[in-house]
Amino acid sequence: MSQGDPSSRRASWWRAPLDRLGEWREQRALARRAIPDPLWELTLSRYPFVAALGTGDRAELRRLCSLFLDQKEFHGAGGLHVTDDMALAVAAQACLPVLRLGLGLYQGFVGIVMHPDEVVAQRSWMDENGVVHEYDETLTGEAVGGGPVMLTWADVRDAAEGADWAYNVVIHEFAHVIDMADGEADGVPPLPDLASRERWIEQIDSAYEVFCDQVDAGVDTVVDPYGAEAPEEFFAVAVEAFFVAPVPFQREMPELYAMLAEYFLQDPAAG
Ligand SMILES: [Zn+2]
Repeated sequence: MSQGDPSSRRASWWRAPLDRLGEWREQRALARRAIPDPLWELTLSRYPFVAALGTGDRAELRRLCSLFLDQKEFHGAGGLHVTDDMALAVAAQACLPVLRLGLGLYQGFVGIVMHPDEVVAQRSWMDENGVVHEYDETLTGEAVGGGPVMLTWADVRDAAEGADWAYNVVIHEFAHVIDMADGEADGVPPLPDLASRERWIEQIDSAYEVFCDQVDAGVDTVVDPYGAEAPEEFFAVAVEAFFVAPVPFQREMPELYAMLAEYFLQDPAAG
């Protein structure tokens, strides 16, 4: 795998080379959204898992952040004013998983809604007798197909501490976005062909089964036990662990680590 040299970015099924118009548009966006040095330094100092990247990778991440900020629209909710450093904090963490894959996987949505703190959402479900049950769900983030990504600033800000227990709300929600880029939230992101898709499903299903048994048995794992809720949640929490707690994650789940390393074209535990 090539490390960090932007000129070695590979054209592939997920990252088609830009035509001349695309190239021109990209250059304009990069100029429009150039990130000032102090703001970039502040972001690196906030997030050790970003600062840990090599020089070339950090430059590529900064480039992707400019493009991301140009393409996405931030909205503050609950009285929150989204400042430049807040938007960049989101961009840097969101772009980390797609450092080598490009922003094409994030094309399906534009809006990012930021709340100051966690949000209580009213939910309802209907049982087999047609009776509707209502309940409250506390959310720190949410990603829905085609819709805006919702994040809480308190959790985005404190991501360095969250990394101690492999928690990262931005990477979690953007893992869902990647998963849904092929239309479905099922723990299977877009893959180049049917054979890779089948291999992925086989591997993630068996890892999920082992994980659910561990959670049932009360075994403490680096991966958030919330992942036992559903395969798509397992994928999202595994991606969090892969990027913010790669060393223990690789030790506990070497096969899953290898699968994600191959997909994301990154090897964060080696850094
Ligand atoms: Zn989730």
